[in-house]
Amino acid sequence: MDFRDTPEEATYRAEVRAWLQASAEPRTSDEQRFGEGLDDAARIAAARAWQRRKAAAGYAAITWPREWGGSGGTAMQQVIYGQEEERFLVPRMVFENSIGQCLPTVAMWAAPAVRERHVPRGIVGDEIWCQLFSEPAAGSDTGGIRTRAERQGDEWLINGQKVWTSGAHFCDYGILLARSDWDKPKQKGLTMFIVDMKAPGVEIRPIHQMSGDTEFNEVFLTDVRIPDANRLGEVDGGWKVMLSTLMHERLAIGGHLPTHLHRNLIQVARTARWNGRPALDDERVKERIANAFLSQHGVELIIARGLTALSQGREPGPEMSILKLVAGRGILDIAGFALEMAGPEGLVAHQDLGKEWAFLQQLWLSAPGIRLAGGTDEILRNVVAERVLGLPGEIRTDRELPFRELER
Ligand SMILES: Cc1cc2nc3c(=O)[nH]c(=O)nc-3n(C[C@H](O)[C@H](O)[C@H](O)COP(=O)(O)OP(=O)(O)OC[C@H]3O[C@@H](n4cnc5c(N)ncnc54)[C@H](O)[C@@H]3O)c2cc1C
Repeated sequence: MDFRDTPEEATYRAEVRAWLQASAEPRTSDEQRFGEGLDDAARIAAARAWQRRKAAAGYAAITWPREWGGSGGTAMQQVIYGQEEERFLVPRMVFENSIGQCLPTVAMWAAPAVRERHVPRGIVGDEIWCQLFSEPAAGSDTGGIRTRAERQGDEWLINGQKVWTSGAHFCDYGILLARSDWDKPKQKGLTMFIVDMKAPGVEIRPIHQMSGDTEFNEVFLTDVRIPDANRLGEVDGGWKVMLSTLMHERLAIGGHLPTHLHRNLIQVARTARWNGRPALDDERVKERIANAFLSQHGVELIIARGLTALSQGREPGPEMSILKLVAGRGILDIAGFALEMAGPEGLVAHQDLGKEWAFLQQLWLSAPGIRLAGGTDEILRNVVAERVLGLPGEIRTDRELPFRELER
């Protein structure tokens, strides 16, 4: 593992840092987030404006090829930009799905006119995209999709339901996977489309999370018409298109996994009182903090391993699956322990306890989602078992049967 920048990486980092310093306000603490106090509309407007500035400076789509309007940069440059941007108070996450997965899929698979219509608008922030894959009976197993796509001349008629669609409530377009042939095996009868999220028949119902946020939605599709020109890839070739979408997710190594939580724990342990004394004086508390530090450090080392591979032009391996497994569990444990230290107040009175506690409470409430999105813990363990440890694969009996005949 090599923790240092190469000379080229160091030059790029200095350029990025200088641009960010001239363009944005630095964060003053780990807990500070952009947009505190802003409503959704103002937050999205600010994200669009920031995306436009990034595009003008060449930081909106760093790894995309120049023919798509990207900067033709390396994966490592993307990582460096992310690390530097993290230090500034700027909108994040709103364009992650658009730039990270949806638009590269459109760029790869759409007809040239459709690509030219959407990709440039997406880069500059005029259009925001979401990913409509998961359904009530198709999450870990995307092959279970039941949303129906029926061909009618030059159009497709779409009926069905999607769920957990991040950002659907503020997105302009989405990429949608639907079943176009029920007589083919589960992975062979799917087709991918571009759907206009404002089209008649698209109904978006936000899901309210226990954290108080509303990040994802149910999306109901009733007789939605999609022109055949908005198909991505071959009819019944949607599985291949979807795999290319997921391939783009690989660059998100360590993105947004906090590695400073032991510091937050130390701060709250200084203010929490146990038996009339600061909790930090208690040996059991010190041991938990030391464990938290070790697990965070392990996460940092796994990230460093992935980054070393990227820096040397190699693909990060499937062992990266360990990262989300360890980090997801670790975040829940650390934030949970902080709340335990605060006693009952930890859950109900974060406003009175201060920003530090509010941050950890919010983290605890959102941590279960980290353990589901992008592959649940069990699915990641399967990946580690099969692809890292070489254990026998899961028994799959339904791969060759017509989808129509599968048990529901
Ligand atoms: C924050 C968040 C954002 C999301 N954003 C999007 C989005 O934008 N677009 C989108 O399409 N989806 C999105 N999702 C959905 C996400 O992809 C699914 O939640 C995930 O794939 C799991 O599917 P599921 O929830 O249907 O659970 P299921 O697949 O039904 O799993 C239920 C349980 O069974 C276990 N299980 C399933 N299969 C196996 C197996 N083979 N072996 C062992 N255990 C198994 C799972 O681990 C889990 O514990 C999001 C989810 C979250 C939490």
